Amino acid sequence: MHLFRRARVPLACLPAPLNAPTASSSPLEPWRECDVAVEGSRIVSVTDSVSGAAAPAGAGVTDLGGSLVLPGLLEVHTHLDKCYTWNRAPGIHSDFWESLEVLYKDSAHWTDEDVYRRSDFALRTTWANGTRALRTHIDVGAKVGAGSLSALSRLRREWAGRVELQVVSLFAFTGYFSGAADTILKLSAEHKVHALGGFPQPNPDLPRQLDTVMAAARELGIGLDLHVDESGLAGAECLRATAEAVLRNEFPHPVACGHNCSLSVQSPERAQETIALVKEAGIGIISLPLTNVHLQGRNRAPAPDGGKWGTPKTPQWRGLTLIHECVDAGVTVACGGDNVCDAFIGWGDFDMVEVFVQSVRLAHLDSRLSFAPSIVTTGPASIMGLPGYGQVAPGSPADMIVFDARKLYSLLARPNTPRRLIHGEGFRKAEAPHFDEQDCWPKI
Ligand SMILES: [Zn+2]
Repeated sequence: MHLFRRARVPLACLPAPLNAPTASSSPLEPWRECDVAVEGSRIVSVTDSVSGAAAPAGAGVTDLGGSLVLPGLLEVHTHLDKCYTWNRAPGIHSDFWESLEVLYKDSAHWTDEDVYRRSDFALRTTWANGTRALRTHIDVGAKVGAGSLSALSRLRREWAGRVELQVVSLFAFTGYFSGAADTILKLSAEHKVHALGGFPQPNPDLPRQLDTVMAAARELGIGLDLHVDESGLAGAECLRATAEAVLRNEFPHPVACGHNCSLSVQSPERAQETIALVKEAGIGIISLPLTNVHLQGRNRAPAPDGGKWGTPKTPQWRGLTLIHECVDAGVTVACGGDNVCDAFIGWGDFDMVEVFVQSVRLAHLDSRLSFAPSIVTTGPASIMGLPGYGQVAPGSPADMIVFDARKLYSLLARPNTPRRLIHGEGFRKAEAPHFDEQDCWPKI
C-alpha cells in the first residue's frame, strides 16, 4: 500500500461527502486536500488531509505538498483510424467536405498493420499525457473497417489496465441505407463494438432511419454515439430528431451525440426545446471545441474564375455547441479532442489537459470553474459507462496526474506546467514517442 498525502483535488472529481465545499478552498475553484491510499491498481481510501490519519503499517508515503491532482483523464471522442495521416493525405484547405473526401481516398490504405501502427503511436502519446480511457470512432462500411477493427481489437487487449479502449462503428447513414448495413452490423458484432456510431444528415426520412438504426443497436445490445449537426445550418436538427427517436422507441441503451454545432445558431426558444428533449431522452452531449473551432466558420471569398477556392476570410462563428445551456438543463456534457493530425486538422497531441485548457478558454468555462474539470473526467466517464473513472475515489483506478501547480488558474496560465503521473503505488515514466519514429513508417 502507498499513501499519497496532501493531493489537492478539485471537488468536481471527488465523491460525496468529500465534494462538499471547504473553508480553506477558493469558491472560484473549490478543492480539497486529500490523503489518497492506493493498493495495487486501485484507490482504497480518500480522506481529508486535515484529519491527518496515520499511514497504515508498512505503507509507503509520498507528500504531494498541496499540488493540484486530477484523476486519469478520459478522451470521449477521437478517430484512431484517421490519426497521423496528415503527412500523406493533408487537408490543404481544411474544408469539411474536402477533408472527408481526402480521408475517404486514404482509407484504401487502412490495413490492420497501418491502423495498428498509427493507433499504437496515439495510445503511447495519450498514455504519456495521463489519459486513462479513450473512445474512438472507426469508419465501417462496404469497403472499410475490417482492418481497422481488427487492429483495435488487438490494441484493446494490449492496453487493458492502462488505457481502456472503446470502439464505435462510424458510418454515413447514406451508406447504411444503400446496401452497407449488413457489413456494418456484421463487423460491429464480430468486434464487439461499444456503440453504433453514424453520421445522419437532415432529410425527410430521418425519423425512419433513426428507428432502423436504433432497432439494429437494440438487437446488438449496445447504445449509439452519433456525429450530428456539424454545421452552421439552423435547419440541421439531427440532435432533436435523435432525442425524439429515443423517446419514441423507448430505446434502453446509452445514447451520446457529438458536435451539435448548429444548436448554437437556432433561435433560443427552439434550442431550449431541443435541450429539454435531450435531457428527457438522457442523451449525453459531446463538444469537440478544438476541431470545431478549426473547421466551422471557415469562410472564403468567392472563388476566382476557373478556381475552386477564394481567399480565406476571418472566422466570425466558431462552432461551439450550447455547453452552458446544456449544463444548466442537467444534461451530461463532455469535451473531446476529435481528430488528430489528419485532413480535418493537422495537429493535436491526444492530450486531454490541452482539451481541458482550450475548452475552458473557448467556451468561457472559467465562469463555472468548479464544474469545468468534469468535462474531461466524470462527464466522459458517465457517457462511456465507466463508473469510478474520472474520480479520485475509493475503487477508482489508481491513476492520477500531479501538476507542478496548486491551482487550476496556474494550470490555465501555464498549460505546459510539468506533470507527474501516478500509476498504482508509484510514479510511472511518461514519455511520448518522438515524431521521428513516423519517418520510418512504410511510405504510402
Ligand atoms: Zn468525430
